[in-house]
Amino acid sequence: MSSEVISREVKRRRTFAIISHPDAGKSTMTEALALHARMISEAGAVHGKGGRRSTVSDWMEMEKARGISVSSTALQFSYSSPDTDTDVPNVINLVDTPGHSDFSEDTYRVLTAVDAAVMLIDAAKGLEPQTLKLFQVCRHRGIPVITVINKWDRPGRTPLELIDEISERIGLIPTPLYVPVGIAGDYRGLLDRRTGDYIHFERTAGGAKIAPEEFLTADQAAEREGDVWSAACEESELLAELGQDHDQEMFLAGQTSPMIFTSAMLNFGVRQLLDALVEFAPPPRGRESIDGVERSVTDPFSAVVFKVQAGMDSSHRDRLAYMRIVSGEFERGMVVTHAQTGKPFATKYAQAVFGRDRSTVDTAFPGDVVGLVNAMALAPGDTLYIDPKVQYPPIPSFAPEHFSTLRVTTADKYKQFRKAVDQMDAEGVVQVLRNDVRGDASPVLAAVGPMQFEVVTARMKAEFNVDTIIEPLGYSLARRTDEQSAPELNRQRGVEVFTRSDGAILALFSDKWRLQYIEKEHSDLLLEPLVAAA
Ligand code: GDP
Repeated sequence: MSSEVISREVKRRRTFAIISHPDAGKSTMTEALALHARMISEAGAVHGKGGRRSTVSDWMEMEKARGISVSSTALQFSYSSPDTDTDVPNVINLVDTPGHSDFSEDTYRVLTAVDAAVMLIDAAKGLEPQTLKLFQVCRHRGIPVITVINKWDRPGRTPLELIDEISERIGLIPTPLYVPVGIAGDYRGLLDRRTGDYIHFERTAGGAKIAPEEFLTADQAAEREGDVWSAACEESELLAELGQDHDQEMFLAGQTSPMIFTSAMLNFGVRQLLDALVEFAPPPRGRESIDGVERSVTDPFSAVVFKVQAGMDSSHRDRLAYMRIVSGEFERGMVVTHAQTGKPFATKYAQAVFGRDRSTVDTAFPGDVVGLVNAMALAPGDTLYIDPKVQYPPIPSFAPEHFSTLRVTTADKYKQFRKAVDQMDAEGVVQVLRNDVRGDASPVLAAVGPMQFEVVTARMKAEFNVDTIIEPLGYSLARRTDEQSAPELNRQRGVEVFTRSDGAILALFSDKWRLQYIEKEHSDLLLEPLVAAA
């Protein structure tokens, strides 16, 4: 495959994730995007009428029962902006982030696979906790963010209140590309700040279809909308005076964020979001290997596994690894090398995965996400490549906040239990901590979100036929320490020291007051926050 072909494919690709708090409208927006890309002909089919959710791959019973998604999938669609005259459509990859507040490290890992993020905010609620957490990960990783204020068809805050909240609380300067015409709850259309024109949206029955757009000049808009139009013009001028206009360099540097007002439910502003992604979000780029060598997108094939998912099919052991392609062209059937083991990996069963419908992929390019079936040896952060060899840095692990012991209750299953624990540790489902006092029979599991524990017990049963019980431990935070400090820490009340499977020595604390007290009384002890290593 010539590098020109790869360059061309890379240039038209955009890979992003939506970061949001539950209920902000991520599923509805995903569906609206699919509608605009003409992947589906009517909204409501994927999302389900009764608020039932099936957009994402609900792979475990537990997940179905709660109606939330534990795992992540990727959705690919092609999109041609009506504004461009080229007949080569863009290829958009939307990588799903689990949206429940009870989330896990998977949510974070997904963000290592994207080049941009859409921060979706409920117009009435503003910034919410999970959005903030995910935004911090984006900032940390240097992922540029497009801000979407959703549910503009319902009463909410004013644009300026929302802009102020975002710039004051997270130091990200919103640069609205459009100003909504009509207050929240009376969404009529958008003032295009670059052309000064008016885009008026028309409602469709139940918001099932793409909302027809009518383009009016400023004069026509003033005549049609009167005061509402003047208010939008004033806001736009005020923003220009404040210097809040889009600047591509500042956007890519994570300082500013193009802002769009939408109603995912009515399909208002959704095309504008897609156009912004195409126009501003960066195309896939190469990556630096652990040796500091840059692999460019046109170099031979390489990819990073960012998510491993098991138990999708209870009839047989099925393990699906999602990889994001970094360089080269991927062809199904290709035999690639697994950098961590040096072993070959056959990609006969590569799949593009969306919800329950798996379709085979034959070729894929940088930025694309491909699911590999039966990927028993692959773990998040692993590299796959075609010669020359490359290995990318591991995915950073995040500071756990939940700690539990895991015990086997089936007496003769201890061997399987150990094997299962090791496996889930290797896959990165949870972090596994041990110390001499507790021994191996009841390791301590550490997680970012408590749902990770339920995944462990459910998989123990389904895949290894081992019954286990999870018992929460009274610790709520961890610090990295060393062998010198360990004995003194172990003597303290409300503290226990463990070794993690990667060799790190961690001290767990009952609460932050305990930690603060010990830090004050024993300033000689090493107590480092566990921050992401990236
Ligand atoms: P998620 O949890 O972020 O995936 O949120 P959903 O897409 O499931 O949406 C949560 C609720 O908000 C649902 O009842 C949606 O119908 C509703 N919703 C989503 N987008 C909009 C919108 O633009 N306007 C209005 N009025 N409701 C919306």
